[in-house]
Amino acid sequence: MLSVVLARRDWREYDQLITLYTRETGRRQTVARGVKKITSKNATHLDVPGIVEADILPGKEVDYLLAVQPVDSFIRLAGDWRRLCVWNFARRLVEQLVRESAEDHALFELLVSFGVYLNTAEQILLSAADSFTLKLLARLGFSPELENCAACGGKLVGERLVFVPSLGGLAHWGCLPANTGTPLGSIPFSEAQAQQLRELLTHSWAKCVARSHCPEVRQAISSFLAYHSEKKNILFQWPTE
Ligand SMILES: [Zn+2]
Repeated sequence: MLSVVLARRDWREYDQLITLYTRETGRRQTVARGVKKITSKNATHLDVPGIVEADILPGKEVDYLLAVQPVDSFIRLAGDWRRLCVWNFARRLVEQLVRESAEDHALFELLVSFGVYLNTAEQILLSAADSFTLKLLARLGFSPELENCAACGGKLVGERLVFVPSLGGLAHWGCLPANTGTPLGSIPFSEAQAQQLRELLTHSWAKCVARSHCPEVRQAISSFLAYHSEKKNILFQWPTE
């Protein structure tokens, strides 16, 4: 079945645990026997970023990965460390946030379309990774409220705003309860910043990553991710050269 390799981990002397995101059955954990031997044909195909056809044999306790064939390889991505870093981040995020196996064609398409974008775009900005993070959270059912106040339900336009992860998105500054203090992870927001967040969530890859966005927007995505995943500081950062 069509799959993207999310992660590989050594297991026993010659075997590896391979986590796949499959188009038909979602996340799958498989055991690839003998894949660490230098003669293994499958090992090469597992290394190249892209879409593979995976032959999976369901087992009683574990599933086995019998063979892998490349279907669409992201060649340009493979040869460019900046692109590869963002791709590896996206794969890791899916591996961390998606736990159960369930069919989700849209999530598969989200991941694949991001890979295709990284493989073909002229320039890769940090906002690519942030847009992916936000879209993945939305796909998993954690879409931030960006149109109406998450506290009173009123329209947000033209107001002094605040992003509150525990409320589920943007709110009027004045709607925060006066006596309990500012909720954890809240970030003061302007309407312009709110618009950037909306664009990262809804625009196509090419459109939403055409320009950089402000630190407050990154911070909002970071605290929203932390709130829903209980993981801190897993926003994408460029590695130091
Ligand atoms: Zn309000």
